[in-house]
Amino acid sequence: MQTHILGYPRIGSKRELKKACEQYWSGKIVLEELLTVGRNICNQNWNLQKEAGIDLIPCNDFSYYDQILDMSLIVGAIPTRYHEVALKRNNSELDLYFAMARGYQKDGLDITAMEMTKWFDTNYHYIVPEFYKNQQFKLTSSKIFNEFAGAKQAGINAKPVIIGLVSYLLLGKEKEEGLDKLDLAQNILPVYVEILSKLQEQGAEWIQFDEPFLSLDITEKAKETYITVYSELRKQFPTLKFIVATYFDGLKDNLSLAVSLPVNVLHVDLARNPEQLEDVINSIPENLSLSLGLVDGRNIWKNDFEKSLAFINKTVEKLGSERVFIAPSCSLLHSPCDLDFETNLNPEIKNWLAFAKQKVKEVVNLKELASGTENQDIINDFEENKKAVSSRKTSSLIHNNIVKQRAEAVTEEDSQRKNSFQIRREEQQKALQLPLFPTTTIGSFPQTTEVRSWRAKFKKGELTAEQYDALLKEETQRTIRWQEEIGIDVLVHGEFERNDMVEYFGEQLEGFVFTKNGWVQSYGSRCVKPPIIFGDVSRPAPMTVYWSQYAQSQTNQWVKGMLTGPVTILQWSFVRNDQPRSETCKQIALAIRDEVVDLEKAGIRIIQIDEPAIREGLPLRKTEWQNYLKWAVEAFRISASGVENATQIHTHMCYSEFNDIIKNIADMDADVITIECSRSQMELLNAFADFKYPNEIGPGVYDIHSPRVPSKEEMIELLKKAQDVIPAHQLWVNPDCGLKTRHWEETEKALIAMVAAAKEAAVEY
Ligand code: GLN
Ligand code: ZN
Repeated sequence: MQTHILGYPRIGSKRELKKACEQYWSGKIVLEELLTVGRNICNQNWNLQKEAGIDLIPCNDFSYYDQILDMSLIVGAIPTRYHEVALKRNNSELDLYFAMARGYQKDGLDITAMEMTKWFDTNYHYIVPEFYKNQQFKLTSSKIFNEFAGAKQAGINAKPVIIGLVSYLLLGKEKEEGLDKLDLAQNILPVYVEILSKLQEQGAEWIQFDEPFLSLDITEKAKETYITVYSELRKQFPTLKFIVATYFDGLKDNLSLAVSLPVNVLHVDLARNPEQLEDVINSIPENLSLSLGLVDGRNIWKNDFEKSLAFINKTVEKLGSERVFIAPSCSLLHSPCDLDFETNLNPEIKNWLAFAKQKVKEVVNLKELASGTENQDIINDFEENKKAVSSRKTSSLIHNNIVKQRAEAVTEEDSQRKNSFQIRREEQQKALQLPLFPTTTIGSFPQTTEVRSWRAKFKKGELTAEQYDALLKEETQRTIRWQEEIGIDVLVHGEFERNDMVEYFGEQLEGFVFTKNGWVQSYGSRCVKPPIIFGDVSRPAPMTVYWSQYAQSQTNQWVKGMLTGPVTILQWSFVRNDQPRSETCKQIALAIRDEVVDLEKAGIRIIQIDEPAIREGLPLRKTEWQNYLKWAVEAFRISASGVENATQIHTHMCYSEFNDIIKNIADMDADVITIECSRSQMELLNAFADFKYPNEIGPGVYDIHSPRVPSKEEMIELLKKAQDVIPAHQLWVNPDCGLKTRHWEETEKALIAMVAAAKEAAVEY
């Protein structure tokens, strides 16, 4: 039996890489200093795994920005627009690489960055390779060889990790019409061969190919490409040992394909899809070993050793221990680095958790325990593990019977508004008296350095609660006044009291904890620190009523209450694994429902429940979409349905495509939905038009992601486009998203122009 790690976090346990990259980008350190930080992180990661006793330690899992961009550079998939960057004097390979990741505005060049998109269903983002017809590839970077050599220096014969050829192609974007990216397999294969030859020359014995697409829905052509590619690689390298790693879902209908590949080890994700083990061990041929992805790389809970050992024993019985590998379910990139830094966590809760470093140890312990170790430390670890697992089952910190009973008692009626939209609409019109093309914003106003400094000072105790409160009130009041002045119809309070749209709620709900240092890479140097939902969720007290009520008391116009929806709170947190996601989501929905009702009681007549993450929660396999959408939409409806007909519920979603889920979006039955639309020139509205979406819609008329101020004329143009497909009386006018990242200067100009555009459009109508 052997252990291996698919990949280790590379930001450094104190986010050293983030800091070094940002310093390098701003010219504060030189290349050699950045490279030193990178090398140190690699060495730390290798040593940590070596000391823990991991058998196969990965290399090339490190990256200065993104492992897929690394591959693009290695195989020379460098779009021509960057060639000039490489030619500039003083530019290193890494400068070219960062130019591809971040764009390049220097030396008289102005080149946009490559596109970035979400890595499957994670919150990690990769740089999308660009593919062209007849594209030729050539070995361009020696990163992978250098890393292998670095590991060797550290006394480790590492296992280089690369994205498998088929997945690499499938991750890319066809930039020319008529191109099928899979047709590039033959062009890129020789470069893969060259990479493997060199690694073999350097002494590599193992290669890990990540092929996550084997656990997704793929075409027949992709399946055929898998067979040709791996047969060819096998032919060329009869003695190199190949691991094909699949993760994020089960192999399912690709099982027979996966076990037929001429490789040495197949890795499967048993955290996501434990059910597949039975089928896998029944169909695996004799010359193939199996890597059991048992330790969850996507979540922060301690592994349940008893359960895992049952999986291992079952596999060993069938395959023999030499053919079994123990591993985390996927790369540990998606876990925070080290639980040891969490000195403020409640010890009972901390005892349920494992971050990357602890997961490495778990993998080793599992192997030792499965092999019948007599090592007393490990046997003690096992006892501790059992205790931790059982304490989670009964802890009063987690289990709240009132919450469980309430969730269980939810009926169909709880997710129904009192009447249909047609009836609500009339009552709302009467109550709210809004004009044609009402204007509003999505919630946040600029979080200036000043506003953020108040929060920091308050947290450090340098401002008293009263002082902090007074400053926020002043800022809120000013924002209300200003919105009145420029003639916005539905005002917002500005969200100055909020750090983050999930954290703000999590901090006030029972069942959440926050880490000090639980950072996970989101993209490049950007990291996020997701809250941990560990227990039954409830709302001890109103969360937003104070600020909404204060804002409403300052004006005679309507102020919109502002909440984050249950699916988004769930999606952007580490969630419990001891109950289905749908159950946790329902509990959050009930807490938000209470908040909605309290806002209504406090005189707030328009309430927005943001759900930007609904779409990203979609399962990877299409067959599972409807099940997810059913509970996700229901959770939203539970949160929204406690109010009277005359109270208007809004929702907001950004960065979404709606075509294939429009029916479910309509099922959410929000009175008004605001969406991001301006960058697509209203194209995203077509889904709503084709569906004859019945409720009201605010397609964003200006892009808040850029400091650029759009003109009134531009926005009128966009509004006309919207009217071409959606009846005017259904339309609202608003920006694409919240304004927290913008400065006041551009915000003022843009919103004044937006209001003018709405007024003019109403007159012209
Ligand atoms: N209400 C939030 C804001 O304006 C919405 C943010 C989001 O959709 N991501 O900031
Ligand atoms: Zn948004």
